[in-house]
Amino acid sequence: MTYDVLIVGGGPIGIASAIEAKKKNLSYIIIEKGALVNSLYNYPDKMTFFSTSEKLELDQIPFVSNNNKPTKQEALEYYRRIVDYKQIHINLFEKVEKVTKDKSFFTISTSKAEYQAKNIVVSTGFYDIPNYLNIPGEELEKVSHYYRDPHYYATQKLVVVGASNSSVDAALETYRKGADVTMIVRGEQIGERVKYWVRPDVLNRIKEGSIKAYFNSELTEVGKDYVKFKDEQGHVQEIENDFVLALTGYRPNFEFLKMLGLDLSDDGLSIPTYNPQTMKTNVEGIYLAGVICGGMETHKWFIENSRIHAKMIMEDINS
Ligand code: FAD
Repeated sequence: MTYDVLIVGGGPIGIASAIEAKKKNLSYIIIEKGALVNSLYNYPDKMTFFSTSEKLELDQIPFVSNNNKPTKQEALEYYRRIVDYKQIHINLFEKVEKVTKDKSFFTISTSKAEYQAKNIVVSTGFYDIPNYLNIPGEELEKVSHYYRDPHYYATQKLVVVGASNSSVDAALETYRKGADVTMIVRGEQIGERVKYWVRPDVLNRIKEGSIKAYFNSELTEVGKDYVKFKDEQGHVQEIENDFVLALTGYRPNFEFLKMLGLDLSDDGLSIPTYNPQTMKTNVEGIYLAGVICGGMETHKWFIENSRIHAKMIMEDINS
């Protein structure tokens, strides 16, 4: 069969796209390379969203959470129940690898099968590829670009690289589970976008010396039991170390977008070209949805402001 729409990525926005496709009686399938809402599944276990639950809702289906800002576990449950309730067609643990275009349809090759579709929605997010530091020792097992749970770091000497929400949450949680935490921050202060109810906490912990922090500093090397970094004065310092959490952000898979033939801006941000009214890209029949639209500006789009893409796309396909 030839699908009207094949959706790449089963995150919140891929699911929103499927709901809208269904409403328009379009045949569709979601192909997701990991678990259902895989990015969310890989977020820190104790993470709380910065959005209130109604801002994360799809199709106005009420998202009931204990507090106004839901937890990761509540969000996983919410999106899982939607997929179940709406009987969304989704294939999990199947990766889209290659797409070719014939005159009237696309052929999509995945890790498991081959599909035909008239249109493709790319909602692949940005959480799969970390912004690597590219320093000696980054490949060591003690270095991680993803953080899940604080207990692992109890009693250990931990370096947290970065000063965004993820780094600050990790530094505070691990400190409270007994880790000896040092933050190494390239900028001159804790990020401006850090959740307003968390920022004072980390600032006070730094001020009282419970969490050590080096600003205007850069990690330069990781060894088996140490790290080296260049401090504010340009001096290289060495400190004892057991683990490094390099939470320096993530980037979309630009190679995948290029393989699809999409144009990316050449201003260093690699923003894909699309029509903001229809979400149509430069390749006829390929649409973008969700955070992928921002290129390197990964903070620009989130669930709250990109769930609308689904409706815009399906209206255009159906027109
Ligand atoms: P994603 O959820 O990233 O989904 C993309 C999916 O595509 C993934 O499941 C991935 O596995 C899959 N995929 C990628 N490549 C392929 C391929 N080749 N084949 C098949 N599947 C593929 N937003 C908010 O609105 N409010 C918040 O409070 C909030 N908090 C956040 C906290 C953290 C720690 C982070 C990192 C992000 C947060 N965001 C928040 C942002 C929000 O989570 C993302 O915007 C959201 O996940 C975007 O949804 P998406 O569907 O566009 O992409």
